[in-house]
Amino acid sequence: MRKIIHADCDCFFAAVEIRDNPSLIDKPIAVGGDADKRGVIATCNYSARAYGVRSAMPTAQALKLCPDLILCKGRMDEYKATAAAIREIFFELTDRVEVVSIDEAYLDVTDVAEFQGSATRMAQWLKAEVVKRTGVTISTGVAANKFLAKVASDWQKPDGLFVVTPDQVEDFVIQLPVGRIHGVGKVTEEKLKRLGIETCADLQQKTVKQLTEWFGKFGLTLYQRARGEDYREVVTERVRKSVSVERTYSENITRQDDLDQALDRLLPVLARRYQGYEDRQIRSVFAKVRFADFSSTTVETAFGSELISSVSSTESSDASAEGLSDIVADKQAEYSVAWLKRALFYPLMQEAVSRGSLNIRLLGIGVRLRDPAGPSEQLSLFPE
Ligand SMILES: [Mg+2]
Repeated sequence: MRKIIHADCDCFFAAVEIRDNPSLIDKPIAVGGDADKRGVIATCNYSARAYGVRSAMPTAQALKLCPDLILCKGRMDEYKATAAAIREIFFELTDRVEVVSIDEAYLDVTDVAEFQGSATRMAQWLKAEVVKRTGVTISTGVAANKFLAKVASDWQKPDGLFVVTPDQVEDFVIQLPVGRIHGVGKVTEEKLKRLGIETCADLQQKTVKQLTEWFGKFGLTLYQRARGEDYREVVTERVRKSVSVERTYSENITRQDDLDQALDRLLPVLARRYQGYEDRQIRSVFAKVRFADFSSTTVETAFGSELISSVSSTESSDASAEGLSDIVADKQAEYSVAWLKRALFYPLMQEAVSRGSLNIRLLGIGVRLRDPAGPSEQLSLFPE
């Protein structure tokens, strides 16, 4: 049984605007183009929705429905930066992330061991971390496949967390209007309605043969979705750019000893996440600190060429919690976890901490990866 989380930001662009200008809270706001330039609404908040304003609606029409609507211009760079920060959190949980759009992703958490494997607790963690670090809320759906997870994330919006357990699937789907099925647009919905099909319960009465006659290949999809079935995989990012781990502490770290111990605990997690990327050369290593006042800093340093060459010649040893020693040549005893800590991450962390004070909310460490070895990469046997 797979475990899938669908995460979707609530009124994403509008949420970022409200975060950065709290005086907008509780007012109807929308992000979109000017009415006199035939602009359309990209996103609006729930106050605006109460007036009937919707995304993709012409701005002129939205202003007719809601004359007090506050129109924000849209700051794509800021939205992208926030979306990237949210994705970082997803990737802290698992590599198996499929980014669907700027504010939406599927996570396959089937193999995640943290949170005792509870996808519900993982979703709770995601929600809490996203709002804490980025100031916007997400809704999450937890289920055994993408279709159900997506419907579930929409079920209790905003700030929702809805779980469909395997034994609830049957009862959950029969009530669903067909319009909830991805791929059923206005036209298909109308056609289904003419055939007397409005819910998944109605759909279940039809055979694959009938549905295929009416809808071609999509007929099989309809047949499966009506039963809560979806065999699509979570398609993960092809080229991973970095591997990292970060933790937010419930009590700020204020002592050097605690800082050292925290680093000790982060290293094996990073090592575990790095597994599977051993064939990728490390471009740089970094440490990140967020201070009590919420300011953060990242210190990054190129990974020495000497180390890189030993990394690329690594033969994988037993993949124990030994961890980062797998990154480097295990023949060279000094390249141990302790060595990595002392030589790489400890100085970076000290440098980062020195930029603020020893009063720390969050620590992170990671490695950035070079692009996978391609034909041009193989020529780099010659020094650059
Ligand atoms: Mg959204």
